[in-house]
Amino acid sequence: MRVDLIDKVPSGAIGTLWEGTKAIAAGFATTLKHVFRPPITEEYPEFRRVLPARTRARIVLTRDPDGGERCVACYLCSGVCPVSCISMQSAERTDGRRFAAWFRINFARCIYCGLCEEACPTSAIQLSPMFETCERDILTLVYEKEDLLVDHGGKDPDYNFYRHAGVVTAIGGKGGHIDEDPPVNVRSNMP
Ligand code: SF4
Ligand code: SF4
Repeated sequence: MRVDLIDKVPSGAIGTLWEGTKAIAAGFATTLKHVFRPPITEEYPEFRRVLPARTRARIVLTRDPDGGERCVACYLCSGVCPVSCISMQSAERTDGRRFAAWFRINFARCIYCGLCEEACPTSAIQLSPMFETCERDILTLVYEKEDLLVDHGGKDPDYNFYRHAGVVTAIGGKGGHIDEDPPVNVRSNMP
């Protein structure tokens, strides 16, 4: 029935008028629908909505299930950051495990794009839903490692990079980890 009516709509100026009238009617219908709905006003900061875990706000450095620092100071987050607001210095423990001697994020420059989290192989750097980081003194927005480190695994609490990576740790020798093939002598593979 509706198709028949549309077929009978005249072309030219009358057709344009008809289309305009239909659009106005649709707009008023939407307005009318909302007029009778109760208003929803969230009185921030008294009312704080629980934000989803995927919210991209204040960045944290997480720990693996054993409580160790996940960051291996690979510089991937720093390299991918479009505003170059991450800097660090890598260091190595006696067992070969790398860590960040210092790690710094300048939140005055961060645009919370999440690229650092995407690039991180160890799930160390994560954006959290904590968005209340506003400061009058811009220098206080420079966070050091001790400000960024948290005592949990964030969105990925069970992940432990060193249970999969091929380095010698207390968990086992090289080639003995989950998903890891034994080391290969590259010289014996030469043609
Ligand atoms: S969220 Fe984006 S801008 Fe902020 S530190 Fe990560 S990569 Fe850089
Ligand atoms: S936070 Fe992740 S990506 Fe950045 S240096 Fe540490 S391990 Fe690498």
